[in-house]
Amino acid sequence: MKRLPALLLLLSMSLPAAAQKQAACPYAAWKSGFKGDARAQATCLLRPVKLYARLGDSAPLPDFLAEHIGQRTGIAPAQLRAWLAAQGIAEADVGGPVDAPLSRAMGRLAAPMARYFVIHDTSYPNFLTESIPAHINDAGWDFNDFTLRNPALGGGPKGHVYVNRLGGSLAVRDFGTPGYASKLEKDKPSLTGLFLHVELVQPRNSVPGGGKGNDGLAPDPGFTPAQYDRLALLYIAASVRKGTWLIPAFHAVLDTGFANGHDDPQNFSLAEWTASLSRLQAALRQADTGQRFPDG
Ligand SMILES: [Zn+2]
Repeated sequence: MKRLPALLLLLSMSLPAAAQKQAACPYAAWKSGFKGDARAQATCLLRPVKLYARLGDSAPLPDFLAEHIGQRTGIAPAQLRAWLAAQGIAEADVGGPVDAPLSRAMGRLAAPMARYFVIHDTSYPNFLTESIPAHINDAGWDFNDFTLRNPALGGGPKGHVYVNRLGGSLAVRDFGTPGYASKLEKDKPSLTGLFLHVELVQPRNSVPGGGKGNDGLAPDPGFTPAQYDRLALLYIAASVRKGTWLIPAFHAVLDTGFANGHDDPQNFSLAEWTASLSRLQAALRQADTGQRFPDG
């Protein structure tokens, strides 16, 4: 979860010094957000997150994101509501009523509405020097059971929605309620409310020879197809509430430049997530066509 202390980090890296320097995404104004249009911001905020929170170079956005970010969703809340009902998914589990507004900065009515969708991994539990168990993607693993490991019970949950490795989700806070979960928001509390936070359950263990107790190693692949599907649904639900596609971001990129910044999400596949998004959007459209043309 945590980056290594700077000295350890330097010692652990084989890259030349110049390549180690990573820049935070430029901020336009503390009230509004990052610089550039929505796509440029997402390109910076979705730089690949590597071991110890090193960031890869920014790459062109996957097609789905390049085509949609910042644009109108064209999906009516009623349409999403009907689809969720048909799937037996409760709106409470996808961040709250799909026709309710999103949080605003500091909860103020006149302040800008949430515009960032931040992707995290829980980095928990940490198996330390033990290997990560083989059954983490099964229903029998305790951390996939929100009744046993409810993040709202004890420890104080951060952010908004948790997604287990079976694709189930639990909202600990409605997307309409500001809740911070990054060093950036802690440092600039006026930003809280601009960011929605989703935590994907992912255990860790220690990098051999790394700092004692470190949680640097993640399973590979990092997440299950069911997690990408639910994350896609959450992104769609939040974007429908806003009316435009939100700007996705990785937590580690938001934390760039802050001491003890986090390294999550590890081993996240933008390609898999956007494939889920395309499928889900197509399913929603199809459901819509069925409603509008019942005899067709
Ligand atoms: Zn995080």
